Amino acid sequence: MVGAGPAGLAAAVTAADRGVEVVLLDAGRAPGGQYWRQRGDVTHPPTAGAGGEPHAEHGSRRLRALWSRLAEHRAAGRVTLLSGTSVWQITRSPDGFVLWLTPSPGRPADGPARVAAERVVLCQGGADRQLPFPGWDLPGVMAAGGVQALLKASGTAAGRRAVVAGTGPFLLPVAVGLAEAGVEVLAVCEAGRPTDWARSLPAVLGVPSKAVEGAGLVAGMVRHRIPYRTRTVVRRALGEDALTAVELSPLDADGRPRDLVRRVEDVDLLAVGWGFTPSVELALQLGAASRVDVDGSLVVAVDEQQRTDVPGVWVAGEGTGVGGAVLSDLEGRLAGAAAAADAGASGGLPRRGGITRHRRFAAAMHRRHPVPAHWDEWLTEDTVVCRCEEVTAGRVLEAHRSLVVQDARSVKQVTRIGMGWCQGRVCGFAASCLTAALEGRRADEADLRGIGSRPLAAPVTLAELARLED
Ligand SMILES: Cc1cc2nc3c(=O)[nH]c(=O)nc-3n(C[C@H](O)[C@H](O)[C@H](O)COP(=O)(O)OP(=O)(O)OC[C@H]3O[C@@H](n4cnc5c(N)ncnc54)[C@H](O)[C@@H]3O)c2cc1C
Repeated sequence: MVGAGPAGLAAAVTAADRGVEVVLLDAGRAPGGQYWRQRGDVTHPPTAGAGGEPHAEHGSRRLRALWSRLAEHRAAGRVTLLSGTSVWQITRSPDGFVLWLTPSPGRPADGPARVAAERVVLCQGGADRQLPFPGWDLPGVMAAGGVQALLKASGTAAGRRAVVAGTGPFLLPVAVGLAEAGVEVLAVCEAGRPTDWARSLPAVLGVPSKAVEGAGLVAGMVRHRIPYRTRTVVRRALGEDALTAVELSPLDADGRPRDLVRRVEDVDLLAVGWGFTPSVELALQLGAASRVDVDGSLVVAVDEQQRTDVPGVWVAGEGTGVGGAVLSDLEGRLAGAAAAADAGASGGLPRRGGITRHRRFAAAMHRRHPVPAHWDEWLTEDTVVCRCEEVTAGRVLEAHRSLVVQDARSVKQVTRIGMGWCQGRVCGFAASCLTAALEGRRADEADLRGIGSRPLAAPVTLAELARLED
């Protein structure tokens, strides 16, 4: 199993419950993933969640249950947990697969360099989805998930006076979490129109816990008196060496930022979130089929049992579509059970009812909180799109105009966009959409696959490669 977030933990424990020998690999310091991010290390029992989530206590109960089951399986030798270990590549072998490993940054290099497996369940989660805008590279402008991760992992509030912006329900726990940590949250700017949720009532009624969660978050917003602006985006972040102010614009009916600008001064933190981008590189390395999800993300195509079209490979969690921790957990259980059944273990498969309802809710969420259709119109020619390689929007335009490059992959080759340290994890979605928009179309599967395919899923040193005899 790759990934020890809600999906991977559930998959590992379910498969081990059925007697299957499991190796659980995770890049993080301790199991839990993004939602159950832990402050301690693997030897410490989990504590209640933090970060403004009203459902944290429930989530924590589930984590404690998984954690203690994992501990039992580890003691019995059924699960080997390799935390702080990244899988940088996965290859096929006559007996199944080989997963090539490297210590995550800051971890000792004493672990194995590879692990062989007959079956793999990939639960890599996702990363913050970012859209560039003028000033987004100033210190003080952060991804909303990153702000939340800092709060959860170390109790650190990333600023003193904050604006939270972007779209989707995730902005609310970030804002409430910051307020609970003593930050003055000046506004939450939501690009969508939350009243549109009325059109998705059946999807909401299918998952009543989400409505309860939403109500808890709204109560948190009211308690902390956090202003909530809808159909509003941050158009520009301002400051010399660091963020000091932001410019807000209302969106018109087509999703274009209007010229009416409102300035908010004395801001030292801007947390921006446009949803999440699923991490699918390991599945793509194996050639698994993919599709474009409702939110425009590239996801792995799976069947009713979370199985990909590559025999022996299952995917669960955000990699099959962003939908939250509960959905990841449910998919992980199913994938773990299905992989165990394939290995000959007894025990039926969990029903898919919960997954279907959560998927329907997730689709509604993506429809109600889309990335604004004309977001590229807030870019200026000197807005940096790829921060690692410092490629500006103007450079992308120029490549398109003068070199007639028409797809994201070619733009990448010409401009070096997405070729730096993050390998397009930060700019890949935006670069694909931007290039497609220049062609007058939406980014399709080929665009997203072109820029999301990575021969290395994690940085690996030349020394490590040199040590591999074969
Ligand atoms: C930065 C961030 C913060 C978030 N915070 C919250 C939050 O506070 N509340 C909330 O409801 N949702 C949050 N989310 C959304 C969250 O991802 C999901 O709700 C939920 O955690 C998804 O579960 P998962 O198991 O699919 O993935 P994750 O929880 O993301 O777990 C995936 C795991 O796979 C590991 N991994 C990935 N690639 C590799 C590799 N190559 N080798 C080894 N290990 C690998 C990762 O280290 C991670 O531990 C956050 C997302 C992000 C990106």
